[in-house]
Amino acid sequence: MKITFLGTGTSQGVPVIACPCEVCTSMDVKDKRLRTSVMIEDKGTTIVIDTGPDFRQQMLRAEVKKVDAVVFTHEHKDHIAGFDDIRAYNYILRRKMDVYASMRVQEAIHREFAYIFNNKHYPGIPEIELYTIVDKEFTIGEITLTPIHVLHYRLPVLGFRIGDFTYITDANFIAEEEKKKILGSKVLVLNALRKETHISHFTFDQAVEMANELNAPQTYLTHLSHQMGLHNEVEKELPPSIKVAYDGLVIEM
Ligand SMILES: [Zn+2]
Ligand SMILES: [Zn+2]
Repeated sequence: MKITFLGTGTSQGVPVIACPCEVCTSMDVKDKRLRTSVMIEDKGTTIVIDTGPDFRQQMLRAEVKKVDAVVFTHEHKDHIAGFDDIRAYNYILRRKMDVYASMRVQEAIHREFAYIFNNKHYPGIPEIELYTIVDKEFTIGEITLTPIHVLHYRLPVLGFRIGDFTYITDANFIAEEEKKKILGSKVLVLNALRKETHISHFTFDQAVEMANELNAPQTYLTHLSHQMGLHNEVEKELPPSIKVAYDGLVIEM
């Protein structure tokens, strides 16, 4: 299985438009963060988790020729805004895009992209096939995903365990029952926004504490704000078992 971090930044991305801070003006490519998303490839199946506003740029940058399915964690704009651009794969692959989401996220997709569902079928709009994620594992081609229910303040968000890999973005609470689904993962991804407290994201300290509790041999932090600090400085504050993800990072496992 190959995991590619397509984006590792919070909702505004890094750099933030017009921000003069040292992170936003850093020349280090690891301080350039598109909105959070990952691509997972295994035995010929390719899935993308979330299609944020940078989806098009991410597909071009990673030279992705085929996407079999999109899986959504939740409906916030920084995770769905680029959805229209999946139609590129409709043309190239000559088939509908399979889309997996909870019922609530599907309602948001209907609302935000109403034209896709319009009866008068305008040529060129995205062609999709929706599948509902319920509280049990599901398989896309060669990839089996177990949903993990986490909370983003009060909003339910889905994390996913795929084999020994677990991906949790946009959360600041994981119930004990859900932690059991994560235990034993070899690679864990957790969101960590910044050092200061936040209503709906783990802070640096909370993410480190959660990583230690869940005890994966390797944890990566994602969904960083410019307020977190410079990539290289933040990573120095972490034990070897925790690293800061960056755009373009590839993990093979
Ligand atoms: Zn900044
Ligand atoms: Zn987000």
